[in-house]
Amino acid sequence: MAKEIFAIFGNPVSHSKSPLMHNLTFQGLGYHACYTRYLLEDGQRLKETFFNLKLKGVNVTVPHKEAAFHACDVLDPFAKKIGVVNTIVKRNGKLYGYNTDAPGFLKAILEIKYIKTVLFLGAGGTAQSTSSILRDEGYEVTLLNRSAKRLEKYKTDGFQTYTFETFEPQSYDLVINMTSAGLEDNNLPAPQKILELVIPKAQACVDVIYGKETPFLTLAKSHHKPTKDGSDMLLYQGIIAFEYFTDHAYHFDEIKPIMQKALRL
Ligand code: NDP
Repeated sequence: MAKEIFAIFGNPVSHSKSPLMHNLTFQGLGYHACYTRYLLEDGQRLKETFFNLKLKGVNVTVPHKEAAFHACDVLDPFAKKIGVVNTIVKRNGKLYGYNTDAPGFLKAILEIKYIKTVLFLGAGGTAQSTSSILRDEGYEVTLLNRSAKRLEKYKTDGFQTYTFETFEPQSYDLVINMTSAGLEDNNLPAPQKILELVIPKAQACVDVIYGKETPFLTLAKSHHKPTKDGSDMLLYQGIIAFEYFTDHAYHFDEIKPIMQKALRL
């Protein structure tokens, strides 16, 4: 049987850990497949590129997750609801689309107990899917963002939203950095004055950025708060994508230790 080929599409894509995570897991589980990366410049060409490369499945990263949504023939209900796809699998010539970022994030958050109210710092693409899944699970999500523009959609969807100027601080069980502040700079995701109001009252603080301690997590630790970075989210979205890629031939708990080891390399 020919080897199944998978890839990650994005721009940029060179930094992605997905090829390492999936290749080592294919190897570890003895699944006949390989996974590569592809710099996709034009999201409109996603479907055509997928078929030209004779792929079985892809992960899709920034900035093509909405283009991926439009490229699919069949959508999983959650992906359909949020309009964002990061995993595509071909079955009988049709493209099936899923979002694994949000359930991966949810799994990471469920490991933190006794959380009801959540403050999101940031309102970008990642916040879109994750706020929706948290609300579906019964969490109360409030969004605080630097600019008002991005908040409009959330307000329409019934979320409580604030900018730095309009913020009326309350007590939140969990504060999450959903921005890219701290990724390639040393910025905090919100003015320190605001963070000093919400962090002391929180039970824990989470950052979706992984691979480094961000200024946000450093500040949370200085208040002796339990913290978690984005590596579990990255791992869990990868495991859930792997389950789709292999049509659930393996269980989550079987995949986890192998993919986790790959992530540590
Ligand atoms: P977007 O570009 O869609 O949104 C960026 C958000 O960050 C906006 O709300 C923006 O606010 C805010 N922001 C950026 N810089 C600053 C700053 N200096 N101060 C305050 N706010 C700022 O990004 P994504 O939603 O795609 O990604 C967000 C983060 O999530 C990234 O760091 C990314 O690496 C991480 N991520 C992690 C994953 C994981 O598996 N762990 C998976 C996916 C993403 P404004 O509207 O004002 O511009």
